[in-house]
Amino acid sequence: MIEIETVGWSDSHCHLQDFSPEELSAVLKRADIFKIKRFHVNGTRPEDWIVVARLAANLPGVCPHFGLHPWQAAQTEDWETKLKEYLLRHPQAGLGEIGLDAKLTDTPMDAQRAAFQTQLALAAELQRPCTIHAVGGVWDMLLEDLQTHKPRAVLLHAWGGGTHLLPRWIECNAFFSFGGVLCRDPQSAKHVQAVEAIPLERILLETDSPWQHPKGKAHRQEPAGLLSIAEQVAKIKKVSLDLLRQVVEKNTNRCFGQNLS
Ligand SMILES: [Zn+2]
Repeated sequence: MIEIETVGWSDSHCHLQDFSPEELSAVLKRADIFKIKRFHVNGTRPEDWIVVARLAANLPGVCPHFGLHPWQAAQTEDWETKLKEYLLRHPQAGLGEIGLDAKLTDTPMDAQRAAFQTQLALAAELQRPCTIHAVGGVWDMLLEDLQTHKPRAVLLHAWGGGTHLLPRWIECNAFFSFGGVLCRDPQSAKHVQAVEAIPLERILLETDSPWQHPKGKAHRQEPAGLLSIAEQVAKIKKVSLDLLRQVVEKNTNRCFGQNLS
C-alpha cells in the first residue's frame, strides 16, 4: 500500500520504464528533492507492461497503468488476454496509455478504434480509470466511445484541446492533466487558455517523462520537472502553490482512486 505523503506531489502520467536503471536512480533522487512522491507509470505495449509491473513491485510510489497505445494498435497481436491478466493481477491499476491519434501515426484509425473500444469495455467491466492520448481532431469519436462504455473516470493527458466540449467531457467524469508545454518560452496561448478554462477541481499535473521536455526532443523530461509545471498552473489560476498541491492531490485520488498499490 502506498503511503501518500501529506506534502507530496503526484506525477499523473509518466513512463519511468523508458529510463535506464542507472538514469532512473538519479531521476528518482531528484524527484525526492522536489517531493514528487507518486508516479503514475503508463505501459504502452506488452513488452512494456512487464517492466511497469516490476517497477511497481520494487519502487515506492509507483502506480502502474497498462494499456495498448494507439501507435501500437496495428502491429500488436494477442494482447487482449494478456492485458486483462495484468489488470487482474494489479487491482488498483488503470488502463493507460490508450486513445486515438489522427496526426502523429500512420496506424489506421479503424485498428486504433477497435483497440480503444476493446480497452474501454475492459475498463468498464473491471471498473478502472483510463488515461487517454488524444491527438488530431478525434474528439467526437472519443466522446462517442466514452459515452457508450462509460469507464469510471478518464484522464485526458497532456491536454491542449478546446473548451467547447467541456460539459460533455465532464459528463464522462474526465480530468485534464497539463505538462511541460506550459514551461515553454514563449508560452503557448492555446495551453494557457486551456488551463484558464478547466475548473481547478478537474486539473492534474504530469511530466510524460522522459518525453515532452519543454526544450524539445533533444532533452529528457523527468518527474522533478513537475514543480515548474505546477508553478505555471498556480500562476495562471492565481492560487498559491500549496493550495494547488492540495487540490491536485485530491483530484488525482478522485480520478485514479485512493489506496493505489
Ligand atoms: Zn505518455
